[in-house]
Amino acid sequence: MADPASLAAISGTLELVNKSVDLVRNLRKKGDDELTAAEMRNTLIDLLDDLVEVKSEFVSLKAVLLSKDEEIQDLKDKLQGKNELKYDGLLYWKEGDTTAFCPICYENEGKVIHLNYWAGSNMYPPNWTCKVCKNGFSLKR
Ligand SMILES: [Zn+2]
Repeated sequence: MADPASLAAISGTLELVNKSVDLVRNLRKKGDDELTAAEMRNTLIDLLDDLVEVKSEFVSLKAVLLSKDEEIQDLKDKLQGKNELKYDGLLYWKEGDTTAFCPICYENEGKVIHLNYWAGSNMYPPNWTCKVCKNGFSLKR
């Protein structure tokens, strides 16, 4: 999802490059004999103008790319911080998530599996059970 300003800048730069290529192509078609010195000079001036514009467009595109890289890095950092699991000595927890994660699945295979919570079941001591490895974890130790 590129923003409209970057897309417009890229399209504009491409258009300029295409125009320059056409200029050179037409020059080649005409052949050396038919070209007057004035025509040659004018075409070169046009080409130079286009190239200067292309160069400045690339400078602004580079700035856009750099700011996008920074934005991506920021988002990655945020994502990592948010997804980081914290171990409380029994279970793993994620910030802002009230459901614990299975320590066996996480430490064995790196799988992040939510546990099921069983409230008030005195008959079955484990408060938390894993639907994958079937282990149970009790908060009363
Ligand atoms: Zn498990």
